[in-house]
Amino acid sequence: MTDVVELTAARAAELVRAGELSAEELFSAYRERAAADELGAFLWLPEGSPAPGDGDSAGRPADAPLGGVPLAVKDIFCVEGTPTTAASRILEGYVPPYTATAVERLAAAGAPMLGKTNMDEFAMGSSNENSAFGPVRNPWDSERVPGGSSGGSAVAVAAGLAPWSIGTDTGGSIRQPAALCGLVGLKPTYGAVSRYGMIAFASSFDQCGPITRDVTDAALLFRALTRDGRDPCDATSIDLPEPVELPAAERLDGLRVGVVRELSEAEAIEPGVKDVFRATLSRVEELGGAVEEISLPHSEHGLSAYYVLAPAEASANLARYDGVRFGLRAESGDLLSLYERTRGEGFGPEVKRRIMLGTYALSSGYYEAYYGRAQRVRTKIAEAFAAAFERVDLVVTPTSPSAAFRLGERTDDPLAMYMADYCTVPTSLAGLPAISIPAGRSDGLPIGFQITGPAFSENRILGAAHALERAIGFDSSPARRASEGARAEVAAP
Ligand code: GLN
Repeated sequence: MTDVVELTAARAAELVRAGELSAEELFSAYRERAAADELGAFLWLPEGSPAPGDGDSAGRPADAPLGGVPLAVKDIFCVEGTPTTAASRILEGYVPPYTATAVERLAAAGAPMLGKTNMDEFAMGSSNENSAFGPVRNPWDSERVPGGSSGGSAVAVAAGLAPWSIGTDTGGSIRQPAALCGLVGLKPTYGAVSRYGMIAFASSFDQCGPITRDVTDAALLFRALTRDGRDPCDATSIDLPEPVELPAAERLDGLRVGVVRELSEAEAIEPGVKDVFRATLSRVEELGGAVEEISLPHSEHGLSAYYVLAPAEASANLARYDGVRFGLRAESGDLLSLYERTRGEGFGPEVKRRIMLGTYALSSGYYEAYYGRAQRVRTKIAEAFAAAFERVDLVVTPTSPSAAFRLGERTDDPLAMYMADYCTVPTSLAGLPAISIPAGRSDGLPIGFQITGPAFSENRILGAAHALERAIGFDSSPARRASEGARAEVAAP
């Protein structure tokens, strides 16, 4: 007898395909666990237990590549007929008439949606405390944050409430919660995955990607997300130059790995994070990789540039929520006060802060000084990465400067909160792919290791991550601890 919660998604899919596990049983087991969630991971679950064999979104699990293994979906993805809020009051009651391409492709590949997960409002945050529907708690220590903004998607997987999930990453929102919850999180190259139906935060940064228990599961989801190529509904989506391979590498022989001085030795990085990072570099060498120090000039200005550019784009994207077309509509007499009251009541404080910052940065007279200058920093950082990839194959840093922090610890200090993105934002500015894998623990809490590569080098990144994952042998025990509750026993050989 095996508890389904012990299985990686890939293994569960194998058992379904081999006829040793029923997709319906698997779905119900997770549906039950998700319904008993006490960590705030889910915002919406289907009534009852739709059998994965039913309906067109379920695919044919037995022969579908993803085997009917259910998927937790960040509540930023529109799903036809399913409430979609982006964790904002302003979208309360909104039910999209269409489904995001990412969700559609995964369902068609045999990963039916299990439920919608909690997040920071409009994906703005690093701790999941900005959700209008309450925070999410970290299963490693429920007094601590899971990271954000895809905190619900990370916790669903880390607590064994879902086999795998998707999130979105604008400045780190897949990698950072994955790191704080002891999981694998992949942010693909900008354009690799369709953004159609993904509620926009900062459109030139936003990317969808997997949060999983291991690297193989991440590769499986990424392959299914990209297999049908460019999405005509998203003008920025593009065909991958090569098919996604399932990673098999066990060694790193001949691989040149660059350690970014500015992003790994900075004072802001906690000593415990530095220790795990250094130990991981030794593993890279043991596996045959060549580690060298590199510099990414201007990367330490990434945060400043990001927190001008992302709010600027957000201020434009969020102009559409005015009480007329979507969700909330405040009581009011005339049109202008309808706009003002709806936005005043509907948006939370962080979203308002971003809209004000962004509007200011784009305003006439200040545009050049803020937006224009931040764009130039963005270009410089992209150029620095390009120069680094002349010398090395991959670039590594810690994922987050700290382990999971306490709930409430940074809510009064936006700048301290923004620091959580210090190591992830440069990659986002450059549009590059990056993965976070769990590399060890500090004071019992998981610490992530970030691997970045050139555009569309996901196969290389996944391969290196796979080899390291095997060498590290990280134990994601909360899933096991959580499974002590409602155990779903299934027959296994
Ligand atoms: N924490 C960053 C922010 O608040 C990144 C969020 C994200 O990647 N969606 O903007």
